[in-house]
Amino acid sequence: MTDSNDMRGDHSRRQPPGAQRLFLVTESADAGGAPLRALELDRAPRYLRLGAAGVPELLARPVRADADIVLEVVDAGARPLVLVQQSPGCGGAPRVNGTPMPPLGFLRSGDQMLICGRLLHVASFTRPPVAPVTANMIGRECPLCRGPVGDRDEVYVCPCGWGPVHWRSEPGEDGSDVLECATLLRECAACKRPMILEERWDDVPVFD
Ligand SMILES: [Zn+2]
Ligand SMILES: [Zn+2]
Repeated sequence: MTDSNDMRGDHSRRQPPGAQRLFLVTESADAGGAPLRALELDRAPRYLRLGAAGVPELLARPVRADADIVLEVVDAGARPLVLVQQSPGCGGAPRVNGTPMPPLGFLRSGDQMLICGRLLHVASFTRPPVAPVTANMIGRECPLCRGPVGDRDEVYVCPCGWGPVHWRSEPGEDGSDVLECATLLRECAACKRPMILEERWDDVPVFD
């Protein structure tokens, strides 16, 4: 991947910060353009269509109800999954990880679908679950330093709800230090999920 900005949709408002976002990634057909094409999967049904030259599209409405592959992100534990439904009339001999696609199944980041000879990879993008404090967090105790969260601080809240932990506190008028407590932790104290301290793509395929 040369430029992750090409792969970032403007969908962040729909999801809580830190939620893992799932994408279908294929080799781009455009000569000289971005090497990868990434389509963001959604927490609502999306209908997969292979357009001209096999370029995949995700549509909000059915293409042909008897011949669709429907993909929907569902939250299941720490990591979201993609629910895949294949209609009986679906052509293209779809396969998942090398075996025929069942009528109903789940995909996770790192899985592959082969449809009409087109390979689609499921990849994921995660960013730190960091945001300005909300009114109900002001004054709550940071679990690391035991200091209060201020109204102008940025805080880390684990996707499981644990926190708020100082991500970057506003320095006090008395010259007190900026607190970056979240960066000192390895994992969430509640769910044991590793701390997400930087933006990260996972399972992005490498094409020659
Ligand atoms: Zn703290
Ligand atoms: Zn957690």
